[in-house]
Amino acid sequence: MSRVLEGVRYQESVLDTVGRTPLVRLGKVARDCPAPVLAKLEFFNPGGSVKDRIGLAMVEAAEREGLLKPGGTIVECTSGNTGVGLAMVAAVRGYRAVFCMPDKVSSEKVNLLKAYGAEVLLSPTAVPPDAPDSYYSVAKRVTQERPGAFLTNQYHNPTNPLAHYQSTGPEIWEQTAGKLTHFVAGLGTGGTISGVARCLKERNPKVRIVGADPVGSILKAYHETGKITEAHTYKIEGVGEDFIPGATDFSVIDQVISCTDRAGLNLTRRLAREEAIFVGGSSGMAVWVALEVARALTPEDLVVVLLPDTGERYLSKVHNDEWMRDNHLFDPAVSRARDIVSGKRRPIPRLLSVKVGDTLRQALALVEQHDVTQIPVFRGAESVGTLYDSDLLKSALADPAGLDRPVETLMAEPLPCVQGDEPVEQVARLLAARNSAVLISDNGGVSGILTRFDMLQFIAGAE
Ligand code: PMP
Repeated sequence: MSRVLEGVRYQESVLDTVGRTPLVRLGKVARDCPAPVLAKLEFFNPGGSVKDRIGLAMVEAAEREGLLKPGGTIVECTSGNTGVGLAMVAAVRGYRAVFCMPDKVSSEKVNLLKAYGAEVLLSPTAVPPDAPDSYYSVAKRVTQERPGAFLTNQYHNPTNPLAHYQSTGPEIWEQTAGKLTHFVAGLGTGGTISGVARCLKERNPKVRIVGADPVGSILKAYHETGKITEAHTYKIEGVGEDFIPGATDFSVIDQVISCTDRAGLNLTRRLAREEAIFVGGSSGMAVWVALEVARALTPEDLVVVLLPDTGERYLSKVHNDEWMRDNHLFDPAVSRARDIVSGKRRPIPRLLSVKVGDTLRQALALVEQHDVTQIPVFRGAESVGTLYDSDLLKSALADPAGLDRPVETLMAEPLPCVQGDEPVEQVARLLAARNSAVLISDNGGVSGILTRFDMLQFIAGAE
């Protein structure tokens, strides 16, 4: 080491920062669970996911076994996190990296891998795995044709679970001082759960291991019956399979619980809003299962759940309101008043209003122009009354000249006002009672209005 660096704290490369991720207690989302629930936050890894751990381990194992030599090429079928983990190792250690994936993958993911200097080969999505142009076949061919190429094959590579046996498992044991009673993780390749489970069970055979599987995947049924069933599509990424990965050791998993897209993805969004934990959909799914488990436990139990990756890779999916609504996944029960205001599809201003002193004629013009039923009346920033279209109409018919009177001569009671972060349920309750609309207040001022029609549209859009 050079003299100038003596005593200076630093890492030799970014790869040395993989692992040692924090455990954070879940607060609001776990309010109704007697047992504490601790989340192992894998997005703290430098590539943003748990897969950094196996990327490094699989490359080092291949180097030890002589399968990967200087100047060699790392090949894998992956569109996501494993690609990033491997691409980072390739960049630091001077390998080439080639990733084969279906062409349905988002351009963000392709660009992310290219940013690390990797080569990306796209194959048509709608071909069977054994077709010559499937991405599996392309990966095999590239591995055979390029001298010094090595297919890491995460689904069947024993180093995948081994990496978790050697790093993730011991970290969890030490961080919890061996007190955890339950461990929950999603099943993808099964590497995470199998490796962690083996480590924890060796130290305490009573630790219960619970897998989380999306509805549509075949892994839960396989665990319970040993039979392979038909798979169906689902939206949560990175977990569940339509085949049985060799990296999964089903014998160390005590139970598998399924989670729907709707439950998992809406909880993913709540984790960001309520806990400031910004993660992908497979994390929401794992937490949903962990909460199911923890609800039935006691304060003497301790649940650890592993959250695999950052939410940044899903900004156009689970973390996008439009995408959630278009896929009929938006759950009104976990939405807030301001979500409806910002999601309104009608091209009208968020808040149409008149001021004390404006004329009824001005109010009528607004009603006509925007086709609204009621208009709040403001004095300064305060809402002091409401003008209804029916009253305006009656007044105009009875006395056309009276339209020059000020609005306060005809206004009714002001609309109730709710905070933007109130649950949608609370707004729905007010609208179902006598009110045709409610005002939404944010940062001390009224920022929008929600009508019965807006609420119905929102709920219909969520179905
Ligand atoms: N979540 C995400 C986002 C993933 O990329 C993966 C890996 N496919 C998993 C969960 C599951 O982890 P494992 O493959 O170790 O079962």
